[in-house]
Amino acid sequence: METGERKVLAACNLCEAICGLELTIEDRPEGPKVTSIRGNETDPLSRGHICPKGVALADVYEDPDRLRRPVKRVGDEWVEISWDEALDLTADGIAAAINRHGPNALGVYLGNPNAHSLGAQTHGVTMLKSFKTRNKFSASSVDQVPHQFVAWQLFGHQLLIPIADIDRTSYFLVFGANPMASNGSLMTVPDFPNRVRELKRRGGRMVVFDPRRTETAKVADEHHFVRPATDAVVLLAMLQVLFEEGLTDPPAYVAGIESVRLAVADYTPEYAAEASGVPADEIRRITREFAAADGAAAYGRIGLSTQEFGSICQWAIHCLNILTYNFDREGGVLFPEPAVDIVGKAIIGRGHFDLWRSRVRDIAEFGGELPVSTMREEIATPGDGQIRAMLTIAGNPVLSTPDGAGLGDALASLDFMAAIDIYLNETTRHAHVVLPPTTALEREQYDLVFHTLAVHNTARFTPPVFEKPAGAMHDWEIFREIALRTTARLERKKSMAKALSERASLTVSPTTIVSTLLLTGRRTTMRALRSHPEGVDLGPLRPTMPTRLQTGDKLIHLAPDLVLADLQRLRSTVDAQLDSRAVDGELVLIGRRHQRDNNSWMHNSERLTRGKPRHQLLMNPEDLAAHGLSDGSRVRVTSRVGEVTTEVRGTDDMMRGVVSLPHGYGHQGAGRRMANASRVVGVSVNDLTDPERLDVSGNAALSGVPVTVTQA
Ligand code: SF4
Repeated sequence: METGERKVLAACNLCEAICGLELTIEDRPEGPKVTSIRGNETDPLSRGHICPKGVALADVYEDPDRLRRPVKRVGDEWVEISWDEALDLTADGIAAAINRHGPNALGVYLGNPNAHSLGAQTHGVTMLKSFKTRNKFSASSVDQVPHQFVAWQLFGHQLLIPIADIDRTSYFLVFGANPMASNGSLMTVPDFPNRVRELKRRGGRMVVFDPRRTETAKVADEHHFVRPATDAVVLLAMLQVLFEEGLTDPPAYVAGIESVRLAVADYTPEYAAEASGVPADEIRRITREFAAADGAAAYGRIGLSTQEFGSICQWAIHCLNILTYNFDREGGVLFPEPAVDIVGKAIIGRGHFDLWRSRVRDIAEFGGELPVSTMREEIATPGDGQIRAMLTIAGNPVLSTPDGAGLGDALASLDFMAAIDIYLNETTRHAHVVLPPTTALEREQYDLVFHTLAVHNTARFTPPVFEKPAGAMHDWEIFREIALRTTARLERKKSMAKALSERASLTVSPTTIVSTLLLTGRRTTMRALRSHPEGVDLGPLRPTMPTRLQTGDKLIHLAPDLVLADLQRLRSTVDAQLDSRAVDGELVLIGRRHQRDNNSWMHNSERLTRGKPRHQLLMNPEDLAAHGLSDGSRVRVTSRVGEVTTEVRGTDDMMRGVVSLPHGYGHQGAGRRMANASRVVGVSVNDLTDPERLDVSGNAALSGVPVTVTQA
């Protein structure tokens, strides 16, 4: 074997920023070793950016704890088995549940990494369709369905989402988002720190609303504390100011503006100030500045979409951009034009709502998925349609979804569970069989979703850095085998034509599918992408309206019934909070993310868990004193759903009355070594979050959970 050092271009698939990477690989007699990972400066989108997680991509590849062969549970032990046995066990378990109890007896949960895997996009969907279950759940309904729900109603497609033109805007208004830590979400914006510096160099401003002084708030020109879950009334008050002061200038293809004016008329800045803590004068001033700016963009993310009125928030953000003529213009928000148009070519469905409902709580589906907040009860409640078997794919909902502890108990009661995952964790430990696919460096990647959400049009295809090891399977191969083997075992037979077309779409490789899709877009080809592994530049965002609208009449109907109907619930909820606040002085809980965390995984990487502890409950020092607590003491945090005990840290980064725990913590050593580092063990915020608290879209309201905090 040849030895020596070589450079290889790759892509990071850990988060939505999709940074280009340059790997240095040493070919050693014992096998290749990644000796360094840097940002790729020639990548036209990420421009050399890398965060600590990107460097840790090699840790996943080399992790001794990562599963490399399928395992099955025998008593309390995990035993390695062949792929054949694992695939047969999985197909047997799924088919048995469907044959005995019908297709809805199978539940499926998709974790966030599915959006970052080409194979999951090209083959996972076909496999899921072949099961015909309505009990599909995913991580989307813990933090992003409001975006899709509103985009579907306004623009005609759940993924037709306008993106801030961060490189040319002069006013960036941010609600409940922390792109300094995340590099954007539902806005692929790698190198955000430099893009903000450039914004300021050209005289622009960034204004942030958040109940925590986040990393983004700290580099903003202005930061305003806003009480959790009251952003909606601040945004509605901004719309009210626009109408009252004659600051609206909407495009001709927008209908329903008078209905919006009437709907927001009572949301005065004074009312919003009382509810949110943001002074009325500031709401007026910022609204005027936003409307007057030469290119302004409003953006709201997880802090908005994880609250009970997430859809109203996302709708109001769109209204702000549209009514001030900052929609579909340079420096405002625009629709990206990806090389593979998953929206225009209907590669991802446009979305639908309430075609069916959950069995136990009667909650509507969106886009073919039920809210993950209903998953536990669908498993645990006996009766027709009860979930008897689960398949989880790259997810750890026991840590990442509401009432995670309760969900863990429910998973333990299943007749059968299989997991497609590279780790044993708090969720997959309940499986009977775990099937681990190859990891990012061993497979090809083209980001079908994130080019659609990026702040600059580019395309990039990344061949595998390492060959697939002998005896390993890619995720798409696992999907193909499970689908085909399960279908063969089902008593309800498909038509020959259907079976053949399913087999054909499962057999063709992801690379071939992308090559074909690129031809339909005519903006670049697989050949061009292979000769430019750094990616090709397809230009800045540009106006495309109304051509790209997916609505039947090419109009934006700005007053959708489903959102406007929820305004009454908002009003009564806020009024009730205003009445009760002085009496009980309750605290409210929000989550938080850190640049070195990646939802509930990557805690096995030593380099990401080094540094100061970051698992603590954050609390304002004045609240600490008011509750008779001291910095560093152990406290008991109690919600309607559960109770956790952890350490508290005083910081004036927190708004008064608000406490915060990080998302994705609370590892119980379920992996062989998973997150033994005490810095990140902590407790799971989702042992406190409440599956009863939902947005109208069905998204979980993880933010703004009422809690009490007492000395432990
Ligand atoms: S920001 Fe970090 S985790 Fe996200 S793609 Fe870039 S390197 Fe990877």
